[in-house]
Amino acid sequence: MALLQIAEPGQSPVPHQVKLAVGIDLGTTNSLVATVRGGRAAVLPDEQGAPMLPSVVNYSDPSAAVVGRTAQAMSSEHPADTLISVKRFMGRGREDANEDAARAHYQLADDAAGMVRFVTAAGPVSPVEASAEILRVLHQRAIDTLGDELQGAVITVPAYFDESQRQATKDAATLAGLKVLRLLNEPTAAAVAYGLDSAEQGVIAVYDLGGGTFDISILRLHQGVFEVLATGGDTALGGDDFDAAVADWVLQESGSQALQPGLYRTLQARARAAKEQLSDAESVSISLDGLVDSGAAVVLTRAGFESLIQPLVKQTLRACRRCLRDAQLDTDVDNVVMVGGSTRIPLVREAVAEFFSRDPLLDIDPDQVVAVGAAIQADILVGNRPEGDLLLLDVIPLSLGLETMGGLVEKIIPRNTTIPVTRAQEFTTFKDGQTALVVHIVQGERELVADSRSLARFELRGIPPMVAGAARIQVTFQVDADGLLNVSAREAATGVQSAVTVKPSFGLNDEQISAMLQASFSHAEQDKQARQLAEQRLEAQQLLEGLEIALAADGDALLAPDECARLHQKMSLVREQMSGEDVNDLRIQTEQLGQASESFAARRMDKSIREALSGVSLEALDDGVSE
Ligand code: ADP
Ligand code: MG
Repeated sequence: MALLQIAEPGQSPVPHQVKLAVGIDLGTTNSLVATVRGGRAAVLPDEQGAPMLPSVVNYSDPSAAVVGRTAQAMSSEHPADTLISVKRFMGRGREDANEDAARAHYQLADDAAGMVRFVTAAGPVSPVEASAEILRVLHQRAIDTLGDELQGAVITVPAYFDESQRQATKDAATLAGLKVLRLLNEPTAAAVAYGLDSAEQGVIAVYDLGGGTFDISILRLHQGVFEVLATGGDTALGGDDFDAAVADWVLQESGSQALQPGLYRTLQARARAAKEQLSDAESVSISLDGLVDSGAAVVLTRAGFESLIQPLVKQTLRACRRCLRDAQLDTDVDNVVMVGGSTRIPLVREAVAEFFSRDPLLDIDPDQVVAVGAAIQADILVGNRPEGDLLLLDVIPLSLGLETMGGLVEKIIPRNTTIPVTRAQEFTTFKDGQTALVVHIVQGERELVADSRSLARFELRGIPPMVAGAARIQVTFQVDADGLLNVSAREAATGVQSAVTVKPSFGLNDEQISAMLQASFSHAEQDKQARQLAEQRLEAQQLLEGLEIALAADGDALLAPDECARLHQKMSLVREQMSGEDVNDLRIQTEQLGQASESFAARRMDKSIREALSGVSLEALDDGVSE
C-alpha cells in the first residue's frame, strides 16, 4: 500500500531491452500465469489453450506428481492422494489445520515440528511442496512461451495472509525455481488490472467469489498508494457450495437417496457444469445417466438456480456490510471490482450492484483479473515502464530495526509487514549518567549491525543523568503510506525527543534484497553465535567498566596489594578473551572475574552502609524501623 521508487533517477532501462517477468495468481481452485507483451497484459494458456490450471496435485505415482486437469480427473479414484485447495493450509501449524484437514478427508502425517504434511502414496507432502508443484507447471509454461530469460514473478496472496502464510508462498516459489519479485495482495492486483492506481484517490471494494472462498476487501487509494482498510469474507463459501446446492436439488428432484461418494462426485461435476452454463443460458438439462436407475435428466432453469443460491449470495452481502463497517465506511465506494469465476453468475452481479448502488467493473475476465494485475506489477518491477513509474509496494521488503549495545540489531518492524505501520519499543541507557543516545537505524535480516544496511543515525540529547537502566526511552518506527520511515525517540521523564525521516528503499534493488535475505538464511547459525558472542562481550565490558570505577574509588582503601593485583590480572584475562572469538572461554573468564570481585563488592557495600549510617544512632535507626 505504498509506493517506493524502484528505478533510481538516471537508471531507467534501455527502451528496447524488454525484460520478461510474469504475474502468478496462485489460487485455491485455479492458478494462472500472465505477462505483459507489447504493452498488453495477457494470461498465458497451456498447450490446449486453457488459461487456468486447476490447483490440484496428485501424488498416486511416487516418482512424479501430476498437476492440473489430469490430477483433477484422478481425484474420484484417488481421493487421499489428490490434494485440492492446499492454499488453505499454507503457513499454518498442524494444530490449527486439523479441523480443515478432517473436513477435506486428508490424513496428516505425525510431525514433531508441528508442520502440516499430508499422507500420500508418495510419502508426506507439505502444502508448500504441493504449491511448488503448481508453480513449477506455471513456471515451465512461462519459459515455453516466453523463452528462458524470465526475470522473476509477482505472486499474489490474499490480503489477510499473515507473515508465515506469505513466507510459505515465497518458499513454494523458491522450491519451484522462481524468483519472487514481490508478493502482492490479490485485491490490490485486481485494482491495478483496472488501472485504478492511476487515479488521484478513491475507495475500492474488491468482491472476490472463487471456488471455495469469498473475500471482500476495501482498499483506499491515496496519491497512487493502496491501503487495505479492511478485509472480510468467508473461507468456507464459494462456487463449490453452489455446486453442492445444485447437486442436492437434483437428488431431491429425482427422488433418489444419497449417492455413494464416487457417484456423488460425478453428480457434483455435472452440477458445476450446469451452473456455469446457467451464467449464459436460461435453462440446462442435467443428465442422471449412470447415477440413478430411473431418470434420464432433470431441467434446471436460471430462476430455479437463483432461488437455490440466493441465501448464499445474501451471506456474502452481509460480509460486505461487516467489512464496510470495519473500514468505517457506508456503502459509498468509488469502484467495485469483481474477481473470481463465481462472479460470472448474473444474480451475483446484480446483487453486488444493488448493494453498492453502482455497476461493478467486469470488463476484465474475473478469473484472470488478479493474474493480469500481477503481470502489470511484475512488468513495472523489472523496469519495463518508462522513467517516473512507481512501484506499488504493500509490504516492507526487509526488516527495519536499530542498533543496540554490542553491535546487535533489534528488529522493530519485521519484513513483510504491511504498511502503513507504527511500532514502538522501549530502550534504556547503558551507562550511569548517560545524557545522550545514538539511534542508528538499520535494514536487513541479519543479527549484527555490521552485516546490515545502515539507513540513518541521529542523537537524542538532554536525557537527565540517571543510573544505567533507569531512563525510559521510547523509540517509534513509523512507515507511512508513502513508504517513508520516520523514527522518533522520546525520553519518558523529561519528554525530550528527537526524530529523523528516512526513505527505506534507498535504491535497494530486488537483487540486493534477495541477496540479503539469502544471506540471512544461510547465516542463521553463524548469526546466532555472533549474537551470543556479542552479548557475552557486552556483559564482560559492563563488568570491567564497573570494576574500574570501583577500583579507582576504593581499591586502595579496601584491598590488600596482592588482592588488587589478582583482580587486575583476572581483568586483563577477560580483556584478552574479549577480542577472541570463543564465546565459552569468554563466559568462563567473565564468571571467574565476577566471583573474584565478589568480596570486594561486599566490602564496598559495607563501607557505603557505614557511611550512610555515620552520625545516625542505632536507637534512631531502631525507631525508624519499628514504626
Ligand atoms: P479461486 O480463486 O478459488 O481459485 P476461481 O476464481 O478460479 O477460484 O473460481 C472458481 C469458481 O468459479 C468455481 O466454483 C467455478 O465453478 C466458478 N465458475 C467459473 N466459471 C463460471 C461461470 N461461467 N458461471 C458460474 N461460475 C463459474
Ligand atoms: Mg482467486
